[in-house]
Amino acid sequence: MSDVASTVESVDCCIVGSGPGGAMLALLLARQGVRVKLLEAHHDFEREFRGDTMHASTQHVLEQIGLTNRLNALPHAKIYEFPTHFPDGTVSPPPRAPHQSKHPPTLEVSQARFIELLVDEARQYPGFSIAFGARAEALIEHEGNIHGVRYRTGDGWGEVHAKLVVGADGRFSKIRQLAGLKLIGSADRIDLVWLRLPRSTGDPERAHGIYLGSDGFLVVVPRADDWQIGFTLPKDGFKRLRAAGIEALRASIVERAPFLADRTHLIADWRQTALLQVEIGRVERWYRPGLLLIGDAAHVMSPAAGVGINYAIQDAVVASNVLGRGLRGGVARTSDLAKVQRRRELPTRLMQAIQRQMRPDSMLGTISRSEIPLFARLMRLPLLNQVPGRLIAFGGFTPERVHGLDQCPSDDLQRTSSVLTQLGLCSPDAPDTLDNTRSVLRNTVHTRLAGGLLIGSIVVLFAWRLVIVEAVLGPINPADELPGAERDVLASGLLIGSIIATIGFTLLARQLRSSRVGGVGIDRSVGLPGGPGGTGARDGRHSR
Ligand SMILES: Cc1cc2nc3c(=O)[nH]c(=O)nc-3n(C[C@H](O)[C@H](O)[C@H](O)COP(=O)(O)OP(=O)(O)OC[C@H]3O[C@@H](n4cnc5c(N)ncnc54)[C@H](O)[C@@H]3O)c2cc1C
Repeated sequence: MSDVASTVESVDCCIVGSGPGGAMLALLLARQGVRVKLLEAHHDFEREFRGDTMHASTQHVLEQIGLTNRLNALPHAKIYEFPTHFPDGTVSPPPRAPHQSKHPPTLEVSQARFIELLVDEARQYPGFSIAFGARAEALIEHEGNIHGVRYRTGDGWGEVHAKLVVGADGRFSKIRQLAGLKLIGSADRIDLVWLRLPRSTGDPERAHGIYLGSDGFLVVVPRADDWQIGFTLPKDGFKRLRAAGIEALRASIVERAPFLADRTHLIADWRQTALLQVEIGRVERWYRPGLLLIGDAAHVMSPAAGVGINYAIQDAVVASNVLGRGLRGGVARTSDLAKVQRRRELPTRLMQAIQRQMRPDSMLGTISRSEIPLFARLMRLPLLNQVPGRLIAFGGFTPERVHGLDQCPSDDLQRTSSVLTQLGLCSPDAPDTLDNTRSVLRNTVHTRLAGGLLIGSIVVLFAWRLVIVEAVLGPINPADELPGAERDVLASGLLIGSIIATIGFTLLARQLRSSRVGGVGIDRSVGLPGGPGGTGARDGRHSR
């Protein structure tokens, strides 16, 4: 086969890999009017055992882009809590407060159907196109800048020239390798075997969850029609498991989750199982001039807590927010690529650190207080114990919001906009009045929040020291030997105070700086006549 490209095209952005991250980024850019080409090596989206877990923030992103009804119309299972089942038969208590959010914390939806939905929506924008069976195999590079991708199909080679190439091609990313961005990773100490078993009407109400066993644990995830079972085993233990025979696998499953005993005979062949070699890794730099990595290509997540899809989607939202406008004007600034990494790297690294703690040996057996790992001790501190929950549910500290949503402004925003315009805070001449309104609201809220945080932090620092420690526990004397628990209280108070103070100072400084640049709280970079923020986003939508 000749290696001369039979198809050559030029776009603003070429995304390699139509997993959750790549498909979401393609949709978000296309709806902003960016010309996007999506390359997918496979001929369809059918994926067995690739993770179907959609946390609250992913559902929230779909709500923002008007796809909630279509998401909920897909066969799914809702999960409100994930109990732990102990070997003696006891089950962790259900959470005390019912979940208040309008979205369930977790929705289990077939990943293939989910990606189909995103791509189907993206097809409605004229700038979007997708090539199936197109495997990216080379980068087009000139003097260190990436200008495009060469890909191979059954019919020969093709080339896409682009201002930006995005590697969203998963944990074994070819683009990462071609770009020379090295993955710093470590294999986890466990591997996971996935399989499915049918659900039965007689199953216990809280049958899903984590089942602790003597030699590992079992994850039981509800899906629309069946249970997805994750069987853990020590690293490289799969060969030994296979050598022991399928009956040994059935017996281990029943030992961990006895309620499955009546159906393990349905596991008749190893082809019904899929091995996931668990790894946790990341690249140090997610970008090069003209190239960005997102999702598993930038950071391989362990399946613990089922956050892989969530993190890929949050990366896509940030990339679209930061890069969309520039790409529409035909520019991909390297400083913007760095910004995407800056915004997403910390949550990713923290989540990976948490995943490293979520191992069977830290969940099994009884451990004495002195052996409780530092991580677990820290998680007892107020506020700090919120961190893992937020990182899992939101893919960060707060869920990312999709920018450029003027296509379907809410009634509230419309009303607020007209009030602010009457008050003279919003310019009636700005073509993008709604963006202008958001900007004003954000600035006002942020300034108050920053000031409040600063004052709050000072109060917290003094309150903990004076009120709690002095009044309740006795006078502070550094020479006093405080017992462990009190020292924890003091330390946590000081830690929380300092964290809040740091956030307060940073926000306040940013606000002061932006109000100097933007005048009376209005971000004038938004929606200027003739600027890139004008009507392009609407154009994309109206073309439907
Ligand atoms: C076996 C398995 C089980 C998993 N289980 C879970 C789970 O239970 N919970 C969970 O949250 N996560 C799980 N994950 C991880 C989860 O699937 C990923 O974190 C998530 O899909 C990452 O999305 P992504 O878009 O970054 O990449 P991916 O979903 O990996 O998508 C990458 C896409 O790129 C395509 N591609 C690859 N190379 C090329 C190329 N050269 N050219 C063109 N296209 C290419 C692939 O075909 C694929 O469609 C699992 C992963 C695997 C492999």
